[in-house]
Amino acid sequence: MDTGFDPEQVIEEFEGLTKDAKRIQMETLKKILEENSEAEYLKKWRLDGKTDPESYSSCVPLVTHKDLEPLIQQIADGAPYPILTGKPITTITLSSGTTQGKRKFVPFNNELTETTMQIYRTSFAFRNREFPIGNGKSLSFIYGSKQFKTKGGLLAGTATTNVYRSEQFKKTMLAMQTPCCSPDEVIFGPDFHQSLYCHLLCGVIYRDEIQVISSTFAHSIVHSFRSFELVWEELCSDIKTGTLSSRITVPSIRTAMAKILKPNPELADKIHETCLSLTNWYGLIELLFPNAKYIYGIMTGSMEPYLKKLRHYAGGIPLLSADYGSSEGWIGANVNPTRPPEMATFAVLPNIGYFEFIPLREIDVASQDRTLPEFGSLPVGLTDVKVDEEYEVVITNVAGLYRYRLGDVVKVVGFHNSTPELQFVCRRNLMPTINIDKNTEKDLQLSVEAAAKLLAAEKLEVVDFTSQVDLSSEPGRYVIYWEVSGEAREEVLKECCNCLDSSFVDAGYVSSRKVHAIGPLELRVLKRGTFQKILDHYVGLGSTLNQFKTPRCVGPANQIVLQILVNNVVESYASTAFG
Ligand code: AMP
Repeated sequence: MDTGFDPEQVIEEFEGLTKDAKRIQMETLKKILEENSEAEYLKKWRLDGKTDPESYSSCVPLVTHKDLEPLIQQIADGAPYPILTGKPITTITLSSGTTQGKRKFVPFNNELTETTMQIYRTSFAFRNREFPIGNGKSLSFIYGSKQFKTKGGLLAGTATTNVYRSEQFKKTMLAMQTPCCSPDEVIFGPDFHQSLYCHLLCGVIYRDEIQVISSTFAHSIVHSFRSFELVWEELCSDIKTGTLSSRITVPSIRTAMAKILKPNPELADKIHETCLSLTNWYGLIELLFPNAKYIYGIMTGSMEPYLKKLRHYAGGIPLLSADYGSSEGWIGANVNPTRPPEMATFAVLPNIGYFEFIPLREIDVASQDRTLPEFGSLPVGLTDVKVDEEYEVVITNVAGLYRYRLGDVVKVVGFHNSTPELQFVCRRNLMPTINIDKNTEKDLQLSVEAAAKLLAAEKLEVVDFTSQVDLSSEPGRYVIYWEVSGEAREEVLKECCNCLDSSFVDAGYVSSRKVHAIGPLELRVLKRGTFQKILDHYVGLGSTLNQFKTPRCVGPANQIVLQILVNNVVESYASTAFG
């Protein structure tokens, strides 16, 4: 079979690029600046033809999305002159908006799709060395969200939709020998509940051929198998009779599924029997897909809290964490697939963009005194970062972003040849400060993890969580929202609440709590299904399940989500941890 690319050659190219990372970065910057020299934005900063890193960083300022928003809006409105790029931008990406509550417009072009494929091919080549797959299919929980035209006639959609719609994506999936088992009508269906049901149905029908179970983010895989728990009998009935459930109403999906679904009572009975044999669904994925080699998706950062559940469903199937990127562009590939997801690192590809790193955090370990300076020091280049240091990532990409602060915090844990291997730490500044506290999304995650152990002892789990900083009364305090898998005893939840409060290690938080400059933390328990409502809300706004990340701190700008939370609280507890 023509595999389209040779994995060993891909590895060789990657080794070549990363051995010469410094030079490749300079060439990449030069190429980006030359191709876009006619863009008004670059002209404004008077580079006057200079393309070296020093001139670039002294002429062009660091920016955030907010700074570029008016320019991107002009592009979306159809401005007839080159604003950020030399060649006209014809597509706009909509970021998921699930981390900060606000969706962002980002310019997109074909070169970005190409860099995505380079990342996919690179990590696949390394993965395939350790976990070779045969010819088969993948059960990919992927969805194409709605695309629309902006005022200026540009096509707008989420990054994943733009990629899944591209020809390059299909070719790459084929080359990896794992085309999706679901037809396009399912992937691009207008209703994700119906698409999800059919993804599951296709997966079961092709169960013997399934080699890989994947999604962009691990949350979506867990969500899918939670849904399986609810619909498995209906799936079995569809397979037994060869008739698609009446819950699928989209005509194009029904037509496409009719070609795949044939009466197969033997398979239906087998699946029925398998489901009944499981204890609390442990090992579901392993039993459903006897030939699956691994489960693949982003499992780091805000996805870590779902790993426990994913391992439970996976049974003995290995979990492999996917690459690191964003709507603004890809950054690094996971070239060490055997590492457990919690330890996953990303080797930056030096030719897919120009990268800088703002040194961020100096932790005085002895005093636990943390400083997150707005600008601790000047940004450093890709090959000048230091092991064990944390940085904010700054991207210059091929689609009109120049010295763009991504807002992610990463830690350098080593080098692959001369390119750094990064570990994702967290999004920056997600938790607002009440007093002198400097808690991050990661701190919240660790505190929830500690408290969830008390629930685990009761055979219960935190389905999902978020938080809010409540400044409506003096002093301000943290409110943490939990959806729990069942009824927990009051004493246990009280203990969980105290544990949440006392597990934050940030010295600013602890000292503020001790002198009551921050009020007692409140734990609010939500009705079952609340996080599904939040997900539905985002999908209703045109976001996609592919890129969904539960917002970990809900601010006042996100009134609808706050209302969903507040309306679904069933119990609340105030911490007594600090007296
Ligand atoms: P979006 O633009 O909606 O696709 O979200 C991109 C954001 O997702 C990034 O800026 C990161 O914060 C997060 N993200 C992407 N890849 C990873 C990864 N491998 N590990 C952790 N977080 C990630």
